[in-house]
Amino acid sequence: RADRISMVFQDPMTALNPYMRISDQMAEVLMLHKGLSKRAAVAEAAQMLELVKIPDAKNRVRLFPHEFSGGMRQRVMIAMALLCKPDVLIADEPTTALDVTVQAQIMDLLGELRRELGMATVLITHDLGVVAGFCERAIVMYGGQVMEQSPVDPLFANPTHPYTKGLLAALPRLDADRAMTPIRGNPPNMTGAPKGCPFCPRCDFVEEKCADVMPPLAEFAPGRARACHRSIETIEEAAA
Ligand code: SF4
Repeated sequence: RADRISMVFQDPMTALNPYMRISDQMAEVLMLHKGLSKRAAVAEAAQMLELVKIPDAKNRVRLFPHEFSGGMRQRVMIAMALLCKPDVLIADEPTTALDVTVQAQIMDLLGELRRELGMATVLITHDLGVVAGFCERAIVMYGGQVMEQSPVDPLFANPTHPYTKGLLAALPRLDADRAMTPIRGNPPNMTGAPKGCPFCPRCDFVEEKCADVMPPLAEFAPGRARACHRSIETIEEAAA
């Protein structure tokens, strides 16, 4: 979406074109969207690499992707996505392919850039630790449907949807006096997506209409909504 929305893709090892120098890949964005000359575009690309903390950016901008490590390639992807100073950055599992130390560096970097550039970030992730540490609001999705949405703190303190509860119970916790409980069953086969609630075959609270009717997403508190036929009280009573 040109200079308004950009995206950081999941795997930095394959998302860059191996046949093109970083300078050419990055300059193309600015030449197409901003009409810059090649020379000005490469200079701006090098500045952006500096912003994402790539050392010796002026010289390294001329290298090919294989001359960078995985973490550095992810920084290049982030720099490329930021070239047009977007209002919204979508980051799809931006740390999956990286080791744990580099993951933390990339999330810190994204947090800093978000504050410095005043840009909204939409993070797609399965890592609930990253959600807790990085996000303000979360949308919990299952089988292509929104199950629950909420500011992050009340979501973790008081999840209301059977799937959100299941996800949190399945987390290994060092500070809790309880065993880790996996969600039984398997994710749905999306080639024959279910008609009703997609969580139905795995849900402990399933009732007859769940298989046929997808519940609407309904607000139950300011800024919080859930899609479930069962009331919050019923689920809490059963858990008590
Ligand atoms: S709608 Fe039914 S199957 Fe889906 S989460 Fe709620 S109780 Fe479970």
